Amino acid sequence: MVEEVDVKAAEELIDFIQACPSMFHTTRTIAGELDRAGFTRLAEGDAWELSAGGRYYTTRNGSSIIAFKVGERAVAEGGYHFQVTASHGDSPTFKLKALPLIEGPEGMLRLNVEAYGGMIDYTWLDRPLSIAGRVLVEADGRVESRLVAPDRDLVMIPSLAIHLDRSVNDSFSPNRATDIVPLVSAGELTAEGFDELIAREAGVERAQVLARDLFLVSRVPARVWGAAREFVSSPKLDDLMCAFTSLKAFIAAENPASVNVYCCFDNEEVGSNTKQGAMSTFLPDVLTRLTAALGLTPEDYRRALAKSMMVSCDNAHALHPNKTDKYDGQNRCRLNGGIVIKEAANQHYCTDAFSRAAFIAVCRRAGVPYQTFANRSDMAGGSTLGNLSNIQASMHAIDVGCAQLAMHSSYETAGTRDVRQVVAALTAFLEADLAIDGAQAVTLR
Ligand code: ZN
Repeated sequence: MVEEVDVKAAEELIDFIQACPSMFHTTRTIAGELDRAGFTRLAEGDAWELSAGGRYYTTRNGSSIIAFKVGERAVAEGGYHFQVTASHGDSPTFKLKALPLIEGPEGMLRLNVEAYGGMIDYTWLDRPLSIAGRVLVEADGRVESRLVAPDRDLVMIPSLAIHLDRSVNDSFSPNRATDIVPLVSAGELTAEGFDELIAREAGVERAQVLARDLFLVSRVPARVWGAAREFVSSPKLDDLMCAFTSLKAFIAAENPASVNVYCCFDNEEVGSNTKQGAMSTFLPDVLTRLTAALGLTPEDYRRALAKSMMVSCDNAHALHPNKTDKYDGQNRCRLNGGIVIKEAANQHYCTDAFSRAAFIAVCRRAGVPYQTFANRSDMAGGSTLGNLSNIQASMHAIDVGCAQLAMHSSYETAGTRDVRQVVAALTAFLEADLAIDGAQAVTLR
């Protein structure tokens, strides 16, 4: 049964997503939550002074963020290790090109955009959209970054009337160069007017804008729905639902024996291989630097990795009732069934028996539900960031997520109760005093 606390938690998730219209805003929103929770901000370019019991965070490119809590006893001889969650703060969308304005026909103004990630294209048609991201401006003798997210419906990608294409219901497959071309104006706004609008949002004149990373944002409001209020639908549940639930767990969890680490990476949807993505040096850079700042050695760091574990959090495909033939017969998950453990023989998911067993032991002890997902054996399925992150900082790792429908639609659906259930599972993981002995044993003290 969905309770009032479940609805409250889902509404908190909705507020979080609302505050994250681009990956830059996601990082700023998470940093704001950490500031409120008493974390100290560290710049990557500064020297770090840390102490046991402290809590810190740092960002890279303004679009990836890593936070950590140094447990009081974490630096004790033989026990130094990391318990990590990792999610991603970007979602599939369309990015404006450097010269984005298409003038005409007939005085109309449109946007030249290209795909960021693998979205379901048709779900971007016929809905109010806006634009969000960062603008680099020249101001006071320097070039600086400013975030913009106009709180207005600014663009739309209209369908063609069925009367002009009678075959649309048989074979519509949008062409990204000719069909996914958002309409900005029917003649009221000039190209300069559009540039001025963006400049105004950044608090500068048009001539001061040097460069922009701008993305389309769906303005369809998120909601909790269903007679029993069991569904939550929103843009960007993948992966902001995991970014949010793991953040709640990370802030709440106390674990004096561990260095708990929270990561939210950019660029998962385009392969993670950027300077701030999960495949970058960001995580090992943070872990090695905090190790040194705590007075420990590179040898201590390598010993710590051997005793550490990462939970890679990215949403999972819930069983779609109209398409059950697309799913494995046994390894399938459902909405509101609790955190999903994903596993694949090709190791696109990093779960193995050891990490699965450790995580299940944690869930069982905490009395929180968990379920299992694997792809149908004749289907490729997706991948995520856990195995990529593991290339740079190798440790025991498991792939989990919240069950959801319509992944990479511009409007996705998950289970209301799963918000709290996933927070509970991740909190249990971060609070567990894990003593990992190679791949032989793990003790939950
Ligand atoms: Zn994802």
